[in-house]
Amino acid sequence: MNDLQQTLDQLRAALGDSAVITGAAINQRHYSDWTGYAPACPAAVLLPRTTEQVADALRICNAAGQPVVPQGGMTGLAGGAVPRATDIALSLERMRGIEEIDAAAATVSVWAGTTLQEIQQAAVEAGFLFPLDLGARGSCQIGGNIATNAGGNAVIRYGMTRDLVLGLEVVLADGRVLNLLNKMIKNNCGYDLKQCFIGSEGTLGVITRAILKLAPLPGETTTVLCALPDYASAVSFLRRVQRSAGTPQAYELMWQDFFRLGVSWLENPVPPMSDEHPLYVLFESAGPRELLEQTLEAAIEGGEVVDAIMASSHTQARALWKIREATGEFPLRMTPLNFDVSLPIGQIGDFAELCRQRLDQRWPGNHSVYFGHIGDSNLHLTVDCRSLPQPAPILEIEELVYTAVGEMGGSVSAEHGIGLLKREFLHHSVSAQARQAMQQLKDSFDPKGILNPGKIL
Ligand code: FAD
Repeated sequence: MNDLQQTLDQLRAALGDSAVITGAAINQRHYSDWTGYAPACPAAVLLPRTTEQVADALRICNAAGQPVVPQGGMTGLAGGAVPRATDIALSLERMRGIEEIDAAAATVSVWAGTTLQEIQQAAVEAGFLFPLDLGARGSCQIGGNIATNAGGNAVIRYGMTRDLVLGLEVVLADGRVLNLLNKMIKNNCGYDLKQCFIGSEGTLGVITRAILKLAPLPGETTTVLCALPDYASAVSFLRRVQRSAGTPQAYELMWQDFFRLGVSWLENPVPPMSDEHPLYVLFESAGPRELLEQTLEAAIEGGEVVDAIMASSHTQARALWKIREATGEFPLRMTPLNFDVSLPIGQIGDFAELCRQRLDQRWPGNHSVYFGHIGDSNLHLTVDCRSLPQPAPILEIEELVYTAVGEMGGSVSAEHGIGLLKREFLHHSVSAQARQAMQQLKDSFDPKGILNPGKIL
């Protein structure tokens, strides 16, 4: 009997036959994440139901030196959950459900396999908001959100996933269970170990349970679209809105080329403003409407804003958001190469300019669009590979963009993580010494290197 067969027998004895899937019975959703990158059928898929079963599975795999890839909802955009044919995938999909909502503490306790949408709904039913929100909400799992430190739509107001996690339960590679569950805001008892696992993309431990912060439900919000003369105005206008009406729920900047594309893809492609402008910002504010009107008037007087539309109905607000949501159609209407980078907010305008110049110089006639959650210092840039010589020089474009990010002190991953897809570019944002310290951390939590090998480092 070979080593793998022996390991699978031990896993079946510990978890039961129905929790160890092999061969043709493995569903193809376990082959790759949302990127479709390097799909492979893993040697087996484990479907544990309890923390003890996760601990047993890891203990067995660790003893055998068998690599394990934790898998959540498989909506990741960095290849972090993609297995190799020799890996065993450990899926959290059966460890699902809300354990408790504590109204006094304003917390929700969940199993790691619970989808983000289920948590959002449970929070609303209890009169709270769980503020993490992103397009994959129906499929992504909270364990995956925590493992990638996901960002999303409301970061400017509520922070990244890291800011919403109070406690975790984590199983280490050798099967030890770390109970880091906690409902308290203040808790300074030595190293805050949970932070090591948030954003670690399944390389340091398997997250099995979490305690998350809830926020009060916001009141009515107002959607506003503003045209801006230049990038500096986008930053000063954000600060003005924050001073007068409070931090907005979202602050989405669109450069002219993105805006034009978004409008052209509308069912009724009529621009909401009569003239074209260099930049547009779409924001959502919970501040009083009169205060927003005064803020807009002052910004127009000060020259920060050239034109503005304040949505007067939910339908009008949805129509404005439709322009920003053109990104959902990228895979259908172009061959997109997407970037998710971050830079200090004051430098994002210069970065976009620099990137555009370098891309135009190298590939005249290429088509790229710029947009982003700039209030979170996050810029997205998408190059349409159809506008490039074929086969598209993907690696060369990536090197060009990430080199520019590195030169300006930015980050090659704002919110999607490193996984497999950005591993070769990590050095543009993380020094050799810091990468070495990361490797030491990895070695101390997972000395045999069985957890998600080859990801991040
Ligand atoms: P998976 O893809 O299954 O796994 C992601 C990583 O986490 C892998 O490295 C995996 O090994 C690890 N992992 C998963 N579960 C666990 C666990 N329990 N313990 C330890 N490690 C684990 N991301 C954003 O940040 N912001 C966005 O706005 C955003 N929008 C998106 C919109 C769409 C339409 C799609 C498809 C994706 C979007 N994403 C976004 C990316 C993705 O949804 C997030 O990265 C999400 O957090 C991944 O969760 P998942 O459960 O699907 O994880």
